[in-house]
Amino acid sequence: EIMRRKLAAGNWKMNGLKAALSELDGMEAAAQGASEVLICPPATLVAAAAQTAKGIAIGGQDCHANASGAHTGDISAPMLADAGATYVILGHSERRTDHDEHDEHVRAKCKSAWQAGLNVVLCVGESLAEREAQNTLDIIGGQLAGSVPDGATGHNLVIAYEPIWAIGTGKVPTTDQIGEVHDFMRARLEKRFGEGVGRSVRLLYGGSVKPGNATEIFAVSNVDGALVGGASLKAADFVPIIEALN
Ligand code: PEP
Repeated sequence: EIMRRKLAAGNWKMNGLKAALSELDGMEAAAQGASEVLICPPATLVAAAAQTAKGIAIGGQDCHANASGAHTGDISAPMLADAGATYVILGHSERRTDHDEHDEHVRAKCKSAWQAGLNVVLCVGESLAEREAQNTLDIIGGQLAGSVPDGATGHNLVIAYEPIWAIGTGKVPTTDQIGEVHDFMRARLEKRFGEGVGRSVRLLYGGSVKPGNATEIFAVSNVDGALVGGASLKAADFVPIIEALN
């Protein structure tokens, strides 16, 4: 029987000045529970967060595919690791949309992150039009095949299923819809990487997770936690989500 440690991951996006680090203090007690807690602050706060946060893993929100070089404004995986990050989010829909990132870019970034010793939270998800056209599983299958490099393990890879239409909208799929996608992703990972690895990769749901809906989402099969945007900014919102997972 493979045990997957539950993961409550927070994505602060482009939010947070130094004062926001005090929210991490408020999350520390909840982070002593059974679940792993991860916060991905903006890059400017990664080093300070990694220094102050006790029992909370810190991650970046993106990295370049190269370790160093002439790429003004970009941040590499070794830089994140050097700053104290142990994770990086890759392929978030806002990166795919705002920065025209495609599966092959995400795949190259993921390889670079692994080389730097970072664990990757790799995001996949369909648009509303794709769901309405009943293409959801095709889209997710294509993103998994295209963005995840060979060499995945239950340690270095976490997949976050984030339907684009559910991010920041207050709209959440039904538990049946979440379960269908998560079961599908589990089967795909087992097929590609073998049962041992496929069963050990954690699968997060993301998109408008709040204290009020976390419990029912966490009860869905193959949901091993959540990637949380808005409700991860304040300890008052994120702590009840962590506790729902513990
Ligand atoms: C996200 O962007 O990863 C996310 C899930 O955002 P929110 O929780 O705000 O919908």
